Amino acid sequence: MTGLGGGATVPGVPELPEVEVTRRRVAPLLVDREIATVETTKPSGFFLTPPATLRRRLVGRRVTELGRHGKYLIGGLDDGSRLLLHLGMTGQLVSASARSPRLFRVSDRHPMATDPWRFAGDRHTHLRLGFRDLGEEVWFRDPRRFGRVEWLAPGAVSPRLAKLGLDALVVDPAAFCAVIQRRRAPLKALLLDQSLLAGVGNIYADEALFRARLHPLRSGTQLSHPAALALLASIQGILLEAIDRGGTSISDFVAPDGTDGGFSANLRVYQRAGMPCLICGTVLMRIVVRGRSTHFCPRCQR
Ligand SMILES: [Zn+2]
Repeated sequence: MTGLGGGATVPGVPELPEVEVTRRRVAPLLVDREIATVETTKPSGFFLTPPATLRRRLVGRRVTELGRHGKYLIGGLDDGSRLLLHLGMTGQLVSASARSPRLFRVSDRHPMATDPWRFAGDRHTHLRLGFRDLGEEVWFRDPRRFGRVEWLAPGAVSPRLAKLGLDALVVDPAAFCAVIQRRRAPLKALLLDQSLLAGVGNIYADEALFRARLHPLRSGTQLSHPAALALLASIQGILLEAIDRGGTSISDFVAPDGTDGGFSANLRVYQRAGMPCLICGTVLMRIVVRGRSTHFCPRCQR
């Protein structure tokens, strides 16, 4: 099934571009608005902060900013506290007026809905924020519940944020080389290690290695300085392109306004094993690196 924007969806989870697209589109719906109501589903692993506490801490607070580090969204509140949001595997942070066939895929349509594409919320809609201005609500829906919500007191250190490496989009070349060239692990594993570089996941790691013409099993210590710089350029180039195109249409990713990402058509190796390389025609391969499916061209990537 495809979304309103057309284009195929691929299996995967939200990575830096999808989280950044979510941030850019949901920020105008959150920033400078005062939270008036907090509705949740019952306590579960989704809520690192219990729902009752979340309600007590959030009601009456004004959102001052929405930032991002790696795959985490970080909402700043007017009392100096913060709200941490992670989309997990199937998280969707949407405006209550979002329209998308994909929002209905695993839920039932509202039987009384007058607008057939309008999402009415369902049992997977775990967090609903209402605002003092009575405008559009913001909902966090997550069918598989690997997403996370956590409230952080002013000045509190988040162990989750503390263990993250530099953000892949803004890391500078010297810092990147220092992190990558000292490690013996395969490049694919290094790129996925969030404590080294935050934000890159399976899709963009495979695509960046293909663009840099680097074999996923090459070790970090085998990278020359120019090759490490080229790899960083590939990573940041592809992340920026994906953000520009609204992210990749992953099975369960929908942008806050209900639109689909347009980057799927730009994927050159991810999920293309057995198909010819778009550059040399060699059959693309799939191997498993540290438990993760890895796609590459055995001829182009050395
Ligand atoms: Zn090739």
